[in-house]
Amino acid sequence: MKEFTVFCQSLKDIIDSHPQLDIEGARKIVQQINEFLYTTHPDIGTIEKFGSKFDYFSDFHKFWHKYHKEILNCEIDEYICEKVADALHSIFIQTNGKAFTSIYDTCGLSDEDVCRVRFLTANQDFRGSRSFSFLADVFECDNAIFDENNILADPEDFLKKIDVGALSQNDKRLKYATNIAQFLLTHKCTPYELLEKYNRDIYALRNDLIACNAGYGNKKADMFVRDMVVLGIWQNVTGFERINVASDVNTIKIALRTGIIRTAIPLVSSFLDIFCYQYEYIDEMNAAAWRRVWEIWTKKYPQESISSPCLMDYFVYNVVGRQFCKESLVFFACPNGHVFKWHSSRNTTCQVCYKQGIRRVPASIVRKCMPCEDEEGFIAIQNTEYVRALPSGQKLTECPFTAICNDKKHLRPPKSISIMGQTGWQSAYANKGEGGGGLMA
Ligand SMILES: [Zn+2]
Ligand SMILES: [Zn+2]
Repeated sequence: MKEFTVFCQSLKDIIDSHPQLDIEGARKIVQQINEFLYTTHPDIGTIEKFGSKFDYFSDFHKFWHKYHKEILNCEIDEYICEKVADALHSIFIQTNGKAFTSIYDTCGLSDEDVCRVRFLTANQDFRGSRSFSFLADVFECDNAIFDENNILADPEDFLKKIDVGALSQNDKRLKYATNIAQFLLTHKCTPYELLEKYNRDIYALRNDLIACNAGYGNKKADMFVRDMVVLGIWQNVTGFERINVASDVNTIKIALRTGIIRTAIPLVSSFLDIFCYQYEYIDEMNAAAWRRVWEIWTKKYPQESISSPCLMDYFVYNVVGRQFCKESLVFFACPNGHVFKWHSSRNTTCQVCYKQGIRRVPASIVRKCMPCEDEEGFIAIQNTEYVRALPSGQKLTECPFTAICNDKKHLRPPKSISIMGQTGWQSAYANKGEGGGGLMA
């Protein structure tokens, strides 16, 4: 807390000697704020990250490193976890469990081939990705593209054939393609046979996948093994219950809005979250909170075979996070005085005039809100991709968490500025007294 105290004291001193806060006082305060948040100095000290040493970015960084948890004080709310578990239980009943087991169409590929295609490409899913149907098509045309020996011999060619060559960060992609091929060659088996090599312990396999430095972080590894289990490609596995919900901005968003996690202050901007401590902390608490929801759910409704927290992923992340919990109910008006609600902001037609047979009357957007904020929210919900595909009789008309969110429904997930890279903290250092520094996009 020493640095923080010194900083606050310096502000107090400036205000004491400039009680009117004239330009000169304001100028000094701006300088102090900038120095405290964004400048380093020779004796500031170092921290370890990714196996290398970094100077602290600033005195605030030092403070934030040590105190971010106490400042944010993120807590899991047991009572709300139970309400969320009840809501998920209702969805389970309404959809016969299907809301938690749909993944993607495997395009007629065999189990072995689905596993191979996904295993060798899931690690390339960043900054743009290719759909499974596209990759399945590439595989169908020439199986040899997905041969680990071929990939190792010419990783660049592999990236070109799966069409990620033009996406960013090519060096990283090459390393990932090489390392994942190497992983298979080391184990002397196909991706499908890996499970057997690990005595069907999916959690041990997942951990080694993360450790081999092939672009499988926690989230990608979890999603890959989850898909293999849900698709029935890998059966009779152990350790599946240890796989968490894939923590990302969508699951964090829903965790904050329902209130299964709660912080003492609203989350800080990524500009203050130097070296992503807040992001990592919230990420971890998010996974723990969804695990708690899962524990309550399975205990309360043991006959519902949700065998791992990661099975909540698809519904929480893709359905609620990406399709329901956003400003998708749009209010339109037309020159003839009609006002109506619609599910798409790309609409340009007055739908009321159109219904009355008056064609081509333009409509413009008046405002937008989330479906759960309006009594006719079903207009947006029933037109989401998820609900459109549901059989009639199972169609949802509102977000299952509508009664839970209340005043928290506008909370937003944290963002992070990466540590390394062209627009990372590591390139943003500035020395005290020298000016400049920061990020340029
Ligand atoms: Zn009209
Ligand atoms: Zn809501």
